[in-house]
Amino acid sequence: MDKHASAVQQSEPSGNGTGANDQPAWGFGTRAVHAGEGPDPMTGAVGVPVYQNSMFAFRSAEQIAAFQAGEVPHYVYSRDGNPTVRCLELKLADLEGAETALAAASGMAAISATLLELVRDGGHLVASQDIYAYAKLFVAHDLPQYGATVTLVDTTDLDAVAAAITSETRAVFTEVFSNPLLKVVDVDALAELAHAHSIPLVVDNTFLSPALLRPLEHGADIVIHSATKYLAGHGQTLGGVVAGRRDLVGCIGVRLSHLGGTLSPHNAWLILGGVKTLGLRVRQQCANAGAVAELLAGHPAVATVAYPGLLSHPGHELARRLTDGRFGGMVAFSLHDDARTKGPFLNALRLPLKAVSLGDVVSLIWPFAGSDIIRFSLGIEETKDLVADVAQALDGGLRTQDSGLRSEPTP
Ligand code: PLP
Repeated sequence: MDKHASAVQQSEPSGNGTGANDQPAWGFGTRAVHAGEGPDPMTGAVGVPVYQNSMFAFRSAEQIAAFQAGEVPHYVYSRDGNPTVRCLELKLADLEGAETALAAASGMAAISATLLELVRDGGHLVASQDIYAYAKLFVAHDLPQYGATVTLVDTTDLDAVAAAITSETRAVFTEVFSNPLLKVVDVDALAELAHAHSIPLVVDNTFLSPALLRPLEHGADIVIHSATKYLAGHGQTLGGVVAGRRDLVGCIGVRLSHLGGTLSPHNAWLILGGVKTLGLRVRQQCANAGAVAELLAGHPAVATVAYPGLLSHPGHELARRLTDGRFGGMVAFSLHDDARTKGPFLNALRLPLKAVSLGDVVSLIWPFAGSDIIRFSLGIEETKDLVADVAQALDGGLRTQDSGLRSEPTP
């Protein structure tokens, strides 16, 4: 029982992105495959086993005593630690260049445990107004019910953030590429501002993943993911991650355990499988998003397109600096006369599935309620097939299925 379990428990990454100090500086794709895991020392099994159990037995009273005295590590109960989950945490800490990482049952479990911990004394939070809808609900509705105060601001506007920070502020929370409008936040400048007030910057990096941006390298103190999305990548599981400074993540881990938002071993195993191909998937998703964004931007039926890779995007230069010219797999757009055109367009598409979520191998498209925004998460299908499909839905689809309403795309 000690074999793999204690091996992974004791091998914390160094925080320099390479795992143990004596390792060479392997590239991202190599570390995505190897970090945090190796063949099972006892059986040679390749791939992390699923330790699908809730508790861990000790061999003797002496071993319990040594554990309780803090002399030897041991797993006890899977809400507080599980070898499969720990392998995932080690891999993600390595990929984010973090001192340590914590896995959670979902992105919302990661966000809620983190923010509850940071404003635990009824403090003040400055949060971006452009964040995932349920995160915004949690921040604006739930946190005040626990005695915290919250100011929502445009985190692309540093003056607005500076004006919102008070002596009671405990943290700044933002996404980098926002959901769904893809506003681009200057992480370096925001971290500098937060640190000038001695408070941590917490960044939700779900839209980019560590394959495109590692916010800790840009000064953030904590990075959060919905692992449900790019990290897992195959629509099979929910999951969340908190990575960053050991002092902060340690306290968030205790909070998460008390709230019970632990990731299950089986779901950790699914995410471990997904992360191995993250870099490869994201490369194709970026290529697909770029091509589809160009098509949309040049089409007369399209009213607006938000994609940071487009020269016309207000955050283009900043995004180029942050992501080294790889602009992610998400596009948001709207159609002219959307009340009439949106339905026929969506129905004419053959490849993207009409579903929520994002970052999957399959392309996903979703019209936002009460708005003309259509969010498009590009999958790993071949670029030419996706471009052809979107083009036929914009051209022929709109013409044939919307007969009587219009015959040509609105200029
Ligand atoms: N953060 C972002 C940017 C998201 O898009 C989502 C979900 O869509 C979440 C957090 C929440 O993650 P989960 O659905 O895994 O709870």
